[in-house]
Amino acid sequence: MDTRGYSCEGTDLPDRCKKCSGELTQPTAGRRRQYCSDSCRQLAYVDRRVQRLAAELAGDPTE
Ligand SMILES: [Zn+2]
Repeated sequence: MDTRGYSCEGTDLPDRCKKCSGELTQPTAGRRRQYCSDSCRQLAYVDRRVQRLAAELAGDPTE
């Protein structure tokens, strides 16, 4: 029996929510989800805005 070539890698790995690392249920068709819920997506969006704002405040204003 030769099982070489088999690995855990694959395209069907269960993804994790980018915000809370919770398990995601991917739809069989269509876009893959990145967040487990709308609230996680919203929180991640706010995080990004805050980070960007902090970066702007930390840097020199170019205006
Ligand atoms: Zn989540």
